[in-house]
Amino acid sequence: MRRILVAGNWKMHGSGAMVQVLLEGLLARAGGGEVDVAVFPPYPYLAQTRSLLRGSSISWGAQNLNPVAQGAHTGEVSAGMLLDFGCRYVLVGHSERRTLYAESDQDVADRFQAALEAGLEPVLCVGETLEERESGDTEAVVERQLEAVLSQSGIEGFARAIVAYEPVWAIGTGKTATPEQAQDVHAFIRNKFASQDDIIAGQLRILYGGSVNGSNAADLFTREDIDGGLVGGASLKVEDFLAICEAVA
Ligand code: PEP
Repeated sequence: MRRILVAGNWKMHGSGAMVQVLLEGLLARAGGGEVDVAVFPPYPYLAQTRSLLRGSSISWGAQNLNPVAQGAHTGEVSAGMLLDFGCRYVLVGHSERRTLYAESDQDVADRFQAALEAGLEPVLCVGETLEERESGDTEAVVERQLEAVLSQSGIEGFARAIVAYEPVWAIGTGKTATPEQAQDVHAFIRNKFASQDDIIAGQLRILYGGSVNGSNAADLFTREDIDGGLVGGASLKVEDFLAICEAVA
């Protein structure tokens, strides 16, 4: 049985004071129940996150990594550095990285592989733009994004990874995919993996991301192939994030 995971991607938001309030609020009421909880703060807050969450049931991760272990890469952070801060997860291929920072499918595949090799669990984000959906290319786009990673890391790579389906048109827009639209793509993703390995596909967590909130979470996360959510905006306020966790508990 796959457990629901509610993961908060804080993007480039926050301050030391906000992290304190948010994590103390989550610690008081989230985690340890039927729902797994994780947070993805910006790099500078990983140390604070570790010291507040260590020993709790709430996990944490980073929003990106550089695939190189170390070297002359000013401004970059490697997988080994993330491990030093107790990260369990790392996001790879978030649509903002793909579009604003021109990360290609190959860049994303390299990051995924580097995360696995270091012992981190990558959360691979995939999803189509509105234009791609409207031209009927959703499955082709998702397939291409998955294939880039599968051809490098193999199906075995997904035994210790998560996939997040995040339609770009639903991220931060207030437009959520309907549960049916999301379920269709999640089933497509799971079937793609199942054609290579039934067991890995059956155990793989596939999260939905795109304007998830306390009102739509239960309807999304009770669909057969939706195993939780990657939550942006609604993860920045304790009450909003807890509403999502509690809606599905
Ligand atoms: C995200 O940042 O991954 C995301 C899904 O954001 P939002 O929930 O704000 O749409």
